[in-house]
Amino acid sequence: MRQNIKKLLYSSGFYHTVAKQLRLNKIGVLCYHGLTAKDSEAVNHIPNAFLHTPIKEFELQMKFISEAFNVLTLTKLWEHFTRRRELPSNSVLITFDDGYKTIYRLAKPVLEKYNIQPVIFITTENIGKYDLIWPDAVFLYYQDRTIPSKQFPDGYTANPKISSSPSQMDEEAIYDIIRWLKKVKNQKRLEFLNRIMSKPDFISRIPQECLVLNEDEIFQLSSLGFNIGSHTNSHSILSRMSAEEQENEIALSKKILEEITSKPVCSFAYPEGGAHDFNDVTIQLLKKHNYTSAFTTIEGYDGKDENLYKLKRIFVMGNLPIWEFCHRMVFSWPATYIR
Ligand SMILES: [Zn+2]
Repeated sequence: MRQNIKKLLYSSGFYHTVAKQLRLNKIGVLCYHGLTAKDSEAVNHIPNAFLHTPIKEFELQMKFISEAFNVLTLTKLWEHFTRRRELPSNSVLITFDDGYKTIYRLAKPVLEKYNIQPVIFITTENIGKYDLIWPDAVFLYYQDRTIPSKQFPDGYTANPKISSSPSQMDEEAIYDIIRWLKKVKNQKRLEFLNRIMSKPDFISRIPQECLVLNEDEIFQLSSLGFNIGSHTNSHSILSRMSAEEQENEIALSKKILEEITSKPVCSFAYPEGGAHDFNDVTIQLLKKHNYTSAFTTIEGYDGKDENLYKLKRIFVMGNLPIWEFCHRMVFSWPATYIR
């Protein structure tokens, strides 16, 4: 459908009317990452810019779903799941991955205004330490043209088709290093991270969008009733780790977040979250450490009989205009994933 028609349908209130007539018996768990105070085009210089939703658009999205859908808390959803009770029709749950500071600075007032209590999945390694998640740190380091004599991580061999030297790398070459670092031993990754994070000039130029929540902010969000969940300690891919390493990621992140919030941490989101990014061992370990639900990034809605350790979600790109968001909530996403 043409953009102009969608805009017209949105401004006429058509999507609201259709939403109220929907009877979706599965829940749409929306997956966000960060927010930005700028327009989406203005954040193109930051890593994975499409992960950061302009706050103006986010506010319109939350207004729309709070008016036209049933926004649940994770606790409420879990009660329905465990009792195999039908979900309230047109249910939605809001989630955020990675733990960006913009959730506190920008999203919190909007969520409070519309009485929405989301789930925030946090990577714990960086809390109070690097103040950003390591893939963003690696990206910003190589993108910064002012840092002299940059090096590749020890053991990394550049693909000559995409990069020639560590000082002149385009996005594709940087993402190749990030993918490589996701596969190496934790110690190797941390050594490299410590090396790049010791450049003071670089740290002063970190964009606001990339900073992550600190302990006090996590505590305050938890006090508001927002559910704080684990997104592992190091944001590495679990299926590539030994059982022992996986257990450390799962147990340590839980311990850190429980110390900060003084509440049990029982929800989990797999880093990357695709079907091959976790395995049966991961699920056994999550159960052993008393996690009661785990979210993937496999696209889809969840019904009352869903496997609670393989919950599907719907990824919301940062550059969706409100009329496109409404169109997808009401038509495209249910049509693709439910019917
Ligand atoms: Zn993540």
